[in-house]
Amino acid sequence: MCPHRAAFTPSIPCVNRAISARTTVSLVPRKQGRKAAFATLFTGLALCHSAWAGLCEDGKLQSPINIAHTSSQSLAPLVFTYRATAPTIANDGHTVRVRLGGGNRLRIGDQHYRLEQFHFHSPGGEQIAGEEFVMAAHLLHKSPLGQLLALEVLYRLGPPDTLLEGLLPLIPAKPDGEHRLVNRPVDPAALLPPALGYYRYVGSLTAAPCTQGVLWIVMKEVRTVTAEQLQRYQSVFPPNARAVQPLHGRTVAESP
Ligand SMILES: [Zn+2]
Repeated sequence: MCPHRAAFTPSIPCVNRAISARTTVSLVPRKQGRKAAFATLFTGLALCHSAWAGLCEDGKLQSPINIAHTSSQSLAPLVFTYRATAPTIANDGHTVRVRLGGGNRLRIGDQHYRLEQFHFHSPGGEQIAGEEFVMAAHLLHKSPLGQLLALEVLYRLGPPDTLLEGLLPLIPAKPDGEHRLVNRPVDPAALLPPALGYYRYVGSLTAAPCTQGVLWIVMKEVRTVTAEQLQRYQSVFPPNARAVQPLHGRTVAESP
């Protein structure tokens, strides 16, 4: 999912709410009976439905998508000014959210964006030529005029990811969304693949209210995590990716 809500608060995709409801069912004491259990389930699903009404159901610029057909263009290069800073890290119950100090910036042509936070999704959500990915990192940026930009890095299974390895032990045990300062610098540049070719399209936040007009930059080169790293992440967080959405005539630009 995400990028998350406009203020980059944690996303709560519908699928998670449904899963939470199912979990609730399994935890209802047997003596309360199946009727109470299913009432809990359907209440959860109804809340989920209402939260996803509007743009989430009817929007024509929704994310994620399957990037299947692209238009090759000479897009401006991505110029990163990222540096290692001490992060604040939160467990919001759906993902680990990492905020860094100021000074991490991305320039594309004459547009400047400030890195607000990054977080992960598993599975990845976005697809490339129908391929699904085990994980995605979303680096959420904002321009001085408030334009939202989500830079996405996708992961397959393979050699270990160094940044994730360092991050996994730092995830707060308590899923309360509180950001805690961690006195170990994190360099967001470590999230980037070596090659900086990218896809670009206009999409949305992937959680309610599914606000549209978000500029998506999807890195063409995919990174890797090990099955063990993935398992450790998934032992803390439930699946939190939204299903791919219809293109509705949108084109995806592709840089060299
Ligand atoms: Zn996200």
